[in-house]
Amino acid sequence: MLDPECLQYINHSCNPNVFFDTENMVLIALRNIEIGEEFTFFYPSTEWSMDKGFSCICQTENCLGYIQGAAHLPLDVLTKYKLSVYIQQKLGI
Ligand SMILES: [Zn+2]
Repeated sequence: MLDPECLQYINHSCNPNVFFDTENMVLIALRNIEIGEEFTFFYPSTEWSMDKGFSCICQTENCLGYIQGAAHLPLDVLTKYKLSVYIQQKLGI
């Protein structure tokens, strides 16, 4: 279960096109999004450690494979992404 719950209706991608600012409840576009293009976001940007991980099928160049939350990824990978304040605090950055 993702938190907030609405996030579970959006698919993960390792090369996401949106970021959810869950503090301000704002959706931020990370790049130009084509009409009809699906919104995707990087689950570990808001999820520290997920109950159930999954094998990512985003098929992007930088796909990280198994996704289980920020706690399970190296810092140098995470810092390439826009992260929630919550995750930044967990990482101490
Ligand atoms: Zn991926």
